[in-house]
Amino acid sequence: MLGRNPSKQARSLRAAYAVAVARVRAQLELFALELSPPVFQNARVPCGILDRAATPPAQSAQELPESVDVAVVGAGYCGLSAARALAKRGVKVAVLEAETFGWGASSRNGGMVLTGMKLPVPTLIKRYGTESARKMYAASLESIDLVEQIVREENIDCDFSRCGHLEVACKQAHFDGYEESAALIKREFNHELRIIPKSGLRGEIGSDIYFGGMVDEASAGLNPARYVAGLALAAQRAGASLYDHARVISVESETNNNARRFRVQTSKGTLTAREIILASGAYTTNATPALRKKIIPIGSYIIATEVLPADLARELSPRNRMIYDSKHFLCYYRLTPDNRMLFGGRAAFFPETENTVRRSAEILRRGMITVYPQLRHAEVEFVWGGTLDFTLDVMPHAGKIEGMYFAAGFAGHGVAAATWFGAKLAGLICGDPHDIPFDGIKFLAAPLGLRSGNTWALPLAGAWYKILDWLT
Ligand SMILES: Cc1cc2nc3c(=O)[nH]c(=O)nc-3n(C[C@H](O)[C@H](O)[C@H](O)COP(=O)(O)OP(=O)(O)OC[C@H]3O[C@@H](n4cnc5c(N)ncnc54)[C@H](O)[C@@H]3O)c2cc1C
Repeated sequence: MLGRNPSKQARSLRAAYAVAVARVRAQLELFALELSPPVFQNARVPCGILDRAATPPAQSAQELPESVDVAVVGAGYCGLSAARALAKRGVKVAVLEAETFGWGASSRNGGMVLTGMKLPVPTLIKRYGTESARKMYAASLESIDLVEQIVREENIDCDFSRCGHLEVACKQAHFDGYEESAALIKREFNHELRIIPKSGLRGEIGSDIYFGGMVDEASAGLNPARYVAGLALAAQRAGASLYDHARVISVESETNNNARRFRVQTSKGTLTAREIILASGAYTTNATPALRKKIIPIGSYIIATEVLPADLARELSPRNRMIYDSKHFLCYYRLTPDNRMLFGGRAAFFPETENTVRRSAEILRRGMITVYPQLRHAEVEFVWGGTLDFTLDVMPHAGKIEGMYFAAGFAGHGVAAATWFGAKLAGLICGDPHDIPFDGIKFLAAPLGLRSGNTWALPLAGAWYKILDWLT
């Protein structure tokens, strides 16, 4: 029985049938693969593909100074962008990094420089109102411009390219929502997104499992490890002092002659600072417990295949977009400039360990072959993991905590957002007007069981999102 619009119903039945056939075929291929030994067993753990190509990190300064104007905790995009901006304005700044420069999420991510935020625009508007949501969205566009400007000004060789992103719909209902979202974003934010019906998807992606897509040409891609290395060199050139293997152990506020300063104890010695910027992201430690308890550290994992033949790479991603799907438990993927397929996702929710990395490799490989059966024989050469900083409301937050500046909660948008927030915090310290649209949002602590160092409830959160993906 066909309803009032038989041709439309017949088309969607045909589309659903084609998707079901593609999925069954992919499952059968996977089943066949499971009978053979895992291809990833020779993959190198942890990461290499991206930072192998990175320029050498900036030289660490030797001795800690006795005092600085600003001490920055963490040398990822946020801390280094802040340090660069402060040093350019003549501020004496020291960056204290527990490991090596860019060691955290900033060298391990997918290199997607994305518009918008983790939360969909209708949710943003519902929660914060149109005016605030407009400012937040504008900040996301501005942050991509800032990354582009820094890359150009500092001559950072990181393959930055405005290649756009493609979001693909895993269900018809998700695709139906795209039309609504794109119209809302055009009307309220004057920003154009393009809807790609299922019939046009092959021009964007060499996969038949999706129900359609949405393209944003403003997004970009880059090599994350090269970008963070370039940012470190740029901060250093501007006059910032960078200290690696300088883990901050404690920060105490003290008042002398009515002037407040912070005493920062590190594994390399002690210094005092007029202001502190906490830019320690998902790796925030007990040195700053007030911030740590607000961050939900979530693992994300990536595999990269061998270098693919050029025609196969073109078939998989004809426009070289940054691609992610519409699920809560999402997959994100892209080609690297040397034509590897880089495929990531929240295969395990726990922060990375050798064990979660290894298990994730096989899960991700299955996911990759479900999307791209063409890659069933491609060797997975690299696998790695990192930790993202989520917050309870899935929003970025910035401001002051116990007198210290901080920014956190960038989730999967930190390449652009962390760069932008770092520069904004530097501006606040230098007396710029306070115009961070995220500042007024209440920053609640993470529930017990989801906090750094004690994440026993993460699998429950993961299961919840899997159920949501089934239901919605
Ligand atoms: C696998 C993966 C894929 C991702 N993909 C994308 C993507 O494609 N696009 C996107 O926009 N975002 C992505 N993200 C998120 C993005 O990488 C992060 O949001 C961003 O890098 C955060 O930058 P940051 O400077 O805040 O923190 P980080 O880069 O994590 O840096 C924090 C640093 O602080 C240091 N630190 C912590 N505590 C101390 C201490 N006590 N003393 C001294 N140093 C300390 C750590 O060692 C660390 O180096 C991804 C993340 C992961 C893990």
